[in-house]
Amino acid sequence: MVLERGEVANSWRRERWDSLRLLTPNWQNRLPGYEYSGSDPDGYMGMGEVVEFISRFALVSAAPVRTHTAVTSLRHGEAGYHVATSAGDIRCETVVLASGACNVPIVPAVRQAVPPGVHNVTAFDYRNPDDLPEGGVLVVGASATGVQLADEIHRSGRPVTLSVGEHVRMPRMYRGRDVLWWMDVSGVWNQRYDAIDDLTRARRLPSPQLVGTPERTTLDLNALDAIGVGIVGRLSAVRDGRALFSGGLRNQFALADLKLGRLLDTFDEWARSERRDEDMPPPERFEPTRMPRSSPLMLDLHSGAIRSIVWATGFRPDYSWLDLPVVDEKGRLRHEGGVVDAPGLYALGLPVLRRRNSTFICGAADDARDVIEHLAGYLATRSHA
Ligand SMILES: Cc1cc2nc3c(=O)[nH]c(=O)nc-3n(C[C@H](O)[C@H](O)[C@H](O)COP(=O)(O)OP(=O)(O)OC[C@H]3O[C@@H](n4cnc5c(N)ncnc54)[C@H](O)[C@@H]3O)c2cc1C
Repeated sequence: MVLERGEVANSWRRERWDSLRLLTPNWQNRLPGYEYSGSDPDGYMGMGEVVEFISRFALVSAAPVRTHTAVTSLRHGEAGYHVATSAGDIRCETVVLASGACNVPIVPAVRQAVPPGVHNVTAFDYRNPDDLPEGGVLVVGASATGVQLADEIHRSGRPVTLSVGEHVRMPRMYRGRDVLWWMDVSGVWNQRYDAIDDLTRARRLPSPQLVGTPERTTLDLNALDAIGVGIVGRLSAVRDGRALFSGGLRNQFALADLKLGRLLDTFDEWARSERRDEDMPPPERFEPTRMPRSSPLMLDLHSGAIRSIVWATGFRPDYSWLDLPVVDEKGRLRHEGGVVDAPGLYALGLPVLRRRNSTFICGAADDARDVIEHLAGYLATRSHA
């Protein structure tokens, strides 16, 4: 059975901002035996459409979902696991943790030093610019969430400053195709976890700077700089009411541009080896990320220029209900490709669980197949014994 504390597609109903669209194109959001069948395969679903898409999948796959059933504790029990829920206790032999990778916003400790007059909001609480007071906004974090919110808030008429650390730059379109089409066909997205040199780093990689818009716009730092969003370095400290930013922007830009160049080389190599070069426009290279005309190293948060801070600094899973010794000191689940460090316990939907696309809708099917194969083997051995 599938236990869900809210309703099917709960995270898409409750934990996303109003204007969000998927950054994966509609054709790509495949689930086992189920795909997009609407009239706009190259478009990007809004939240209402995602909820409908996933809810319909739950219906057609006849998933045995028990909604409004929160798991409050999971521990070893007789012959397996004891699951305490808001609707009573359950005993089972195996458990798959599919509770999501993005349950809680990560907010850096410097938040504590922000002066009380500045309004703070995380990407979890933010719904639209009307939630913010009038006046300047500092958006901290420049991955998918940060660039999208910086753009939206800037368009609401508020002056926006975006604090940029390590980031992954991507154009929306490359050689006439969606960049995520290239990720798909070139095999980059399907790369297996055991073929990745530095898996720990791959699992910590921020989400790409992408947005899903009907115009298929690229939303990188050059685009934000061009519309007047201020760009500053990584927020390193808040001291005496002053936000201090790292001076390493040029290096961050160079690194992101270099990685983008390597990714495009991989795509071009794939096109050459598959003899697809003639079907498509020639390789492109993009203007390097421009250094902003001015990039202050300090903003005085007492001055009134910044009225709110939006923390777009990532998310983490919530394992507070796991009464099992399977989480390390950094709060990460100990697992090998979704096989958790406790017999009969499995996980899905975590960063690069088995493939680079493990935290995307389209990555669920392959990972689930592999993990369930192991789970079925485990049950078969037990019943044999
Ligand atoms: C801002 C944002 C944008 C994204 N955009 C895209 C995109 O464009 N394309 C894409 O493919 N992916 C996107 N993702 C990733 C997307 O969230 C995942 O693809 C997908 O949600 C993973 O599904 P999941 O079921 O593993 O996790 P979730 O969708 O998080 O589902 C986990 C479920 O578990 C429930 N739950 C948690 N704890 C408990 C408990 N203790 N008891 C009972 N139930 C519990 C939650 O209510 C939730 O419904 C985005 C993620 C975020 C945060």
